[in-house]
Amino acid sequence: MKTLVDLQSAGTIHRIIQDAAGAVERARKDDPTALQEISDSTDGDPFRVLIATVLSHRTKDPVTALASSRLFARFPNVKSLAAANSRTVARLIKPVGFYNTKARTVKKISKILLAKYGGIVPEDMDKLLELPSVGRKTANCVFVYGFKTPAIPVDTHVHRIFNRIGVVETKTPEETEMELTRLADRKDWLPLNEVFVKFGQLVCRPIGPHCSECPLNDRCKYYKTDYLPRTVKTSLKNTSKRARTGRKPNRAQ
Ligand code: SF4
Repeated sequence: MKTLVDLQSAGTIHRIIQDAAGAVERARKDDPTALQEISDSTDGDPFRVLIATVLSHRTKDPVTALASSRLFARFPNVKSLAAANSRTVARLIKPVGFYNTKARTVKKISKILLAKYGGIVPEDMDKLLELPSVGRKTANCVFVYGFKTPAIPVDTHVHRIFNRIGVVETKTPEETEMELTRLADRKDWLPLNEVFVKFGQLVCRPIGPHCSECPLNDRCKYYKTDYLPRTVKTSLKNTSKRARTGRKPNRAQ
């Protein structure tokens, strides 16, 4: 008989991260997330990671990556971005969502960094949270992708997947962050966001997750309580229809 898996033990969470990482290993190498790409190409420049994360809000990864590279080619550092014309910035970052507002925001952030911190991004949660448009997710991205210090940025993918599996039962990304930092071993924090953003894009998608091929389905609450019962119900319905009509059910119905 199978024993129940303690989903909240640090060891189980470690294996969940390893198995998810294995499933998206190739995609992470061939097509890294926008933040990983910026981190790799700038040797983890916290300023560029911060600005790219602000651009990434409500924007798809490829759009963020392109917009960031256009922006940094023209304004490569905090000083040049603080002095930039907002309209020029907006033109460079278009079509990221809310590009006019974001153009003003990244300029404002650069000005504050120059005025208060000598142009250096502070490695301090409270100070980062004082910057416009910077919430916990953005600040944690700066820690992980910029400073390379352990933190858990929780975006919609991380929040959804850990709730589906049943590791956490939370309503908001902030609650998920608190729970995961309590449960997961600190050594697993650094790769967690990157693995699960990719895993959420490719396997555990918001709509139509690929549960039957998922390496985590033996531990997943959603798989057992939602996906499997639905699959069994559909197959029973099809069998009884076939018995009644003697025909294969029409897939289009
Ligand atoms: S089994 Fe399905 S819901 Fe669970 S983690 Fe995998 S893809 Fe997501």
